[in-house]
Amino acid sequence: MASQVTFIGAGNMASAIFGGMIDNGYPATAITATSPDAERLTALAAERGIHTTDDNAAAVAEADVVVLAVKPQIMREVCEGLRDAVQARRPLIVSVAAGLTAETLDTWLGGDLAVVRCMPNTPSLVGAGASGLYANARVSDAQRELATTLLEAVGIVEWVDDEALLEAVTAVSGSGPAYFFLVFEALEEAGVRLGLPAATARRLALQTGLGAATMAQRSEHDPAQLRRNVMSPGGTTERAIHSLEDGGLRELFADATEACAARAREMA
Ligand code: NAD
Repeated sequence: MASQVTFIGAGNMASAIFGGMIDNGYPATAITATSPDAERLTALAAERGIHTTDDNAAAVAEADVVVLAVKPQIMREVCEGLRDAVQARRPLIVSVAAGLTAETLDTWLGGDLAVVRCMPNTPSLVGAGASGLYANARVSDAQRELATTLLEAVGIVEWVDDEALLEAVTAVSGSGPAYFFLVFEALEEAGVRLGLPAATARRLALQTGLGAATMAQRSEHDPAQLRRNVMSPGGTTERAIHSLEDGGLRELFADATEACAARAREMA
């Protein structure tokens, strides 16, 4: 029998995850989502066939996994409202909320719980996410596998064994989509300066990013080797890469990710 999974919150991130689970064959009847938004719940029940309710505590009563997917600002209040139901049932807690530690969530929920904390990213909304996961000491191997199944429904999963490393995950993949959006903007602008229509430059830039990532994921070579493979001596790519290296691209990424991780530490 499939584990019963309850999502507290039925917004973008929750619906991306349960939508991906259902698309991957997870039974919709084993999924419950809660929200105060009655219209949203009616639509989800009709479209996806999941159970829905506006009663968070009731939704936890038979859950094996509770996914906390509300905004961080209201998480404390939501957790405190769930405390009795969670302590009675003791399900695995999975949080996708930015910046709240496993310890904090555990305390708000009454303590002594198995908690998995995730750092997903926005491409999860199109099934191409990258999530970093951390499990506290009470999480069993079977629960780890379950958490992996949930987050793999929206992309790839990497586990870290030290919660502080989620700050590094934030710096690489959590905030990472925006770095690539900036690169796409810059490449489009550069193409326009060289005479291309903006729409053409954008399509070429985006497809090139997608193609490079796909090629790097499928290749047996690392990205450095793939880069060298397209840099013929004295050729066009070599000129461009030297210009980026001379301009300090690597140092810029090191500084940007350090600043990002430092900010994540401040917010935790
Ligand atoms: P969202 O606003 O789309 O969804 C929040 C949901 O919570 C809504 O369905 C809302 O009706 C519901 N809600 C509000 N009050 C509630 C209550 N008292 N009880 C139950 N449900 C309630 O937000 P989102 O983008 O899905 O973000 C949810 C979490 O995911 C956040 O903690 C955020 O940090 C995390 N996250 C989101 C993304 C992303 O790409 N959207 C990326 C990383 C992390």
